[in-house]
Amino acid sequence: MTKDVIKLLPDHVANQIAAGEVIQRPSSIVKELLENSIDAGATKIDLVIKDSGKTLVQVIDNGRGIANNYLALAFQRHSTSKLKTAKDLFNLKTKGFRGEALSSISAISHVETISRTAKDSIAKSIKIEGNEILSEDYKAAPIGTSFSVRNLFFNIPARRNFLKSDSVELKHIIEEFNRVVVAHPELNFSFIQNGKEIFVLKKTNLRKRISSIFGHKVSNFLVPIKEDTPVVKITGFIIKPSGARKSRGNQFFFINNRYIKSPFLNHSVKSAFDGLLSPKYYPGYFIFLHVNPKKIDINIHPSKTEVKFEDEQSLYAILRSSIKHSLGIFQVSPTLDFEKDSSMETPYSFKEKDPSSPKISVNSNFNPFKNNLSSYSFESNQNNSQIEFESEITNKVIEGDNLDFNPTHTKVFQLFKKYLVTALPSGLMIINQKRAHQRVIYEKLLSNLSSKKTHSQSVLFPFKISTNAQEVIFFNQNKKTLQAMGFEFNIDESSKIINFTSIPILFDKNQLENLFDNLFSNEIKYNGFSQADSVSKQLSKAMAIPNGKTLSIEEQHKLLASLFTCKEKNLSPFNRPILVNLDESEINKKIN
Ligand code: ADP
Ligand code: MG
Repeated sequence: MTKDVIKLLPDHVANQIAAGEVIQRPSSIVKELLENSIDAGATKIDLVIKDSGKTLVQVIDNGRGIANNYLALAFQRHSTSKLKTAKDLFNLKTKGFRGEALSSISAISHVETISRTAKDSIAKSIKIEGNEILSEDYKAAPIGTSFSVRNLFFNIPARRNFLKSDSVELKHIIEEFNRVVVAHPELNFSFIQNGKEIFVLKKTNLRKRISSIFGHKVSNFLVPIKEDTPVVKITGFIIKPSGARKSRGNQFFFINNRYIKSPFLNHSVKSAFDGLLSPKYYPGYFIFLHVNPKKIDINIHPSKTEVKFEDEQSLYAILRSSIKHSLGIFQVSPTLDFEKDSSMETPYSFKEKDPSSPKISVNSNFNPFKNNLSSYSFESNQNNSQIEFESEITNKVIEGDNLDFNPTHTKVFQLFKKYLVTALPSGLMIINQKRAHQRVIYEKLLSNLSSKKTHSQSVLFPFKISTNAQEVIFFNQNKKTLQAMGFEFNIDESSKIINFTSIPILFDKNQLENLFDNLFSNEIKYNGFSQADSVSKQLSKAMAIPNGKTLSIEEQHKLLASLFTCKEKNLSPFNRPILVNLDESEINKKIN
């Protein structure tokens, strides 16, 4: 009865299990290594990545290094120089403390570390594969540590196969990198992916660091927050309501300069923004909370991104009121921030436009659905979009799917500003306008892609939009697809400006900035589908008319007509039902 015998797990098994908790993907390694470098007091940290971390993750720092005779020890589980007694656990001043990262990483990859302290006259190197030391050596190297991780999950194929495409893994890595560099503007960082510099960040202040990561479209909307109480000291920035986005991407909490996730604190921020944001828009923030380390517990999850607070309720209230305070100040007077870099005052794309006084849109009659997709943004009244359909198809009689009706001559009406209702010989048909429009755009884009005809119009003056490093990567990765769709553009990598020289006929150039904003707000997933398909889906989502928009009779007819030329009328590009039929017998059932 061997199964009843209790045995201690062999070390390598225990290490693999622990590794599973700490290291989920290449970005987890990036996080752990960057944190170790910061704990080591480094002022310059370089991150080198190959193939989104699947081939190589390397971190090089100028920190205090690991002493020659401790190098091998650092890779043992629960070996840490950061805790001496259990008491220290409740007074943490470092990012690491569990002593798990290096043992976990070396359990599931090929690691090479070279490190030197000021006390040692020479550096020591060590090679470890699956927790086994292959070799140790002495080498010439400057003070600091270089840590290379290759062949991640080489001994856990299931894990390796579980990794997502390069672009998804790179996105995760950039996210971790962003969290660290925003928490530490006082340090120098660089990030090189496949031999190309993605970021070179010199030490600076927080505002400029945020700007170099997220671009002008974030940094132009920053409002400082400040609060100092015995419970907590708060610093950082919130993003003005006019700069809010449709994604949670720009939400950052740092406790004692450690990035954390906190639905609880997020709720506090949300409530401070109450009434200032349109539905589906999220507040943006970079909030630094400084608390006595004794008053928090970070040891509740291996990834150390969750925190328990001793005095939650006060923290909630203080945060909320300090944000309200900043929003209030901002409304009555322009913010004076002497740290602000004046060259960053005007986003590039606004420079050539007529100046319009920025205003906070707190209009009690405000109907978020009244205008188009972009109605909550800075440029709200510049583009009153109309739904564009191809006119040739609108007068066609459409047949098929047991339908035999002429969409332009059938009575249609809009219900709840969300559905189109039309009568068929067999009964009633109810169509979700947003999903229908998504389907129309999606098929149009795909047909553009396959037909090879040009569907684009060149613009007289290149149309510029300003982006950030992450978005530049997107444009580079998707250049071919976007070109096939009819976008022609060149990328100014240093200023992160995209110059469009040609855009598809389907698009309004005044909407480009919003369009790509929406596109980036949506998670871009490439799992299982072609890149073209994913991009078309996301563009359809970004461009489609929203539910809640009133459509003219003409627009209703056009939308129906276009939908019924689609190859698939029943499902949206995201596989959601577009329409429902209520036939005579169902109606009879309800009424009789
Ligand atoms: P933890 O960070 O929780 O202490 P790790 O497994 O991440 O555990 O690291 C183990 C130890 O190795 C650290 O406590 C530290 O002493 C040493 N170490 C790791 N990375 C570095 C580095 N880049 N520079 C100096 N020392 C390091
Ligand atoms: Mg660590």
